[in-house]
Amino acid sequence: MAARFDDIVIGTGQAGPSLAARLAGAGRRVAVVERKLFGGTCVNVGCIPTKTLVASARAAWVARKAADWGVVVDGAVRVDMKQVKARMDAVVAKSRTGVEGWLKGTANLTVYEGHARLEGPKAVRVGDETLHAERIFINVGGRAAVPPIPGSESVPYLDNASMMDVDDLPEHLVIVGGSYIGLEFGQMYRRFGSRVTIVEMADRLIGREDPEVSDAIREILEGEGVDVRLNAKCVAFEKDGGGVAVRVDCGEGSPEIRGSHLLLAVGRRPNTSDLGLEAAGVETDDRGFIKVDDQLRTSVPGIWALGDCNGRGAFTHTSYNDYEIVAANLLDGEDRRVSDRIPCYALFIDPPLGRAGMTEAEVRRSGRRALVARRPMEKVGRAVEKGETAGFLKIHVDAESKRILGAALLGIEADEVVHVILDVMYAGAPCTVIERAMHIHPTVAELLPTLLQGLKPLE
Ligand SMILES: Cc1cc2nc3c(=O)[nH]c(=O)nc-3n(C[C@H](O)[C@H](O)[C@H](O)COP(=O)(O)OP(=O)(O)OC[C@H]3O[C@@H](n4cnc5c(N)ncnc54)[C@H](O)[C@@H]3O)c2cc1C
Repeated sequence: MAARFDDIVIGTGQAGPSLAARLAGAGRRVAVVERKLFGGTCVNVGCIPTKTLVASARAAWVARKAADWGVVVDGAVRVDMKQVKARMDAVVAKSRTGVEGWLKGTANLTVYEGHARLEGPKAVRVGDETLHAERIFINVGGRAAVPPIPGSESVPYLDNASMMDVDDLPEHLVIVGGSYIGLEFGQMYRRFGSRVTIVEMADRLIGREDPEVSDAIREILEGEGVDVRLNAKCVAFEKDGGGVAVRVDCGEGSPEIRGSHLLLAVGRRPNTSDLGLEAAGVETDDRGFIKVDDQLRTSVPGIWALGDCNGRGAFTHTSYNDYEIVAANLLDGEDRRVSDRIPCYALFIDPPLGRAGMTEAEVRRSGRRALVARRPMEKVGRAVEKGETAGFLKIHVDAESKRILGAALLGIEADEVVHVILDVMYAGAPCTVIERAMHIHPTVAELLPTLLQGLKPLE
């Protein structure tokens, strides 16, 4: 069977659905293909479920520490993991069915449920049907990578997707990988009541951040009882009764960790190996990411790649921004580019890390004259009032133009406050705009002008 469309969208992650709906709204006949769960990673096994779990974990933490705020909790605080999971499932299901219902209810849009494979530059196979279109938009996302760690083939392990099925409390969760996903799960399960060990091969956690950020995050996690094992150069796994023994071979501490559960959080890889890209001539890099130009066009005219599969971002907001770029360029006659965007993201441990622009290491590498200001959260009134003073605020500014180069905000509300900085960066305005602004008291953001008054040359 064959069907003809104007456009085909493969994958319903964070770019595909919005793009499909806009194209359909513009009068084009659009096919959308999804092989698994509507909404993709973020909705089903990524941002939404993890942040729902983070909220439950925080509630447990607050309940246990209630006395710090003068609140008496009579009796032990217990976490009902089945209820925690049920709450998460309900939030996820609402979001997933929302995406599905939206797509299926949109005029000019036909939804196919099945695996899509390119058969040529203008043809996509789904089951026993071949769909033809002038333009194809690929939004197939990625999945957990499992590197060849000795023993991984013979031990049971979890990844970010199978973690969503866990509805009881691991006695000892060993997490291999000390980056965003590993750290969020680590703090969360520690707060639920598990013993947690995070094993990281590098000499610090979250190695793409500045060392002082890594160190502060390690301190926060260790302060809650998470064991952190760094420099784990020769990780290997072995079965250990019902659990797993993880050989870490660290310089210090026991050379082996015995856990009841093992979570591998060691990176992601794109879903591009079973997409028939070669049949259409779409080029990938050596890690399987689809090569795109600054406007997300692949090597084949008429085919675009959006979201995690193009290697130009690894976040929901980068994928959604990809949609905005492609839609604006195709439908609104604009000339938007990936290189126009400023890197930004958050790490949703508690307190969160909000990041915008360059790290200090990147500022130094750029060779420009820069200024830096730091302020510990202990000197932020709102944090003191809340009794949550871990972390610090740090900002880098160009010494000549006074434009903000980057910021790392680690502390309560930092995931929100960082947008004050981000928007001034987008405006291309100097930091004096923030310095002279009147902010609301008492907030974390009100300290940003004070922070900037402390700018000193970056030595
Ligand atoms: C644990 C975890 C936590 C995260 N937390 C955050 C966060 O807090 N903030 C943030 O910004 N990002 C977060 N992310 C990243 C975020 O989830 C992704 O960047 C985001 O989902 C963008 O993905 P995407 O649009 O590229 O595609 P995806 O969301 O991965 O969706 C791709 C879709 O394509 C479908 N598909 C794949 N191949 C085919 C095929 N051949 N045929 C048909 N359909 C196909 C898949 O089934 C899937 O539904 C997190 C990720 C993980 C794993």
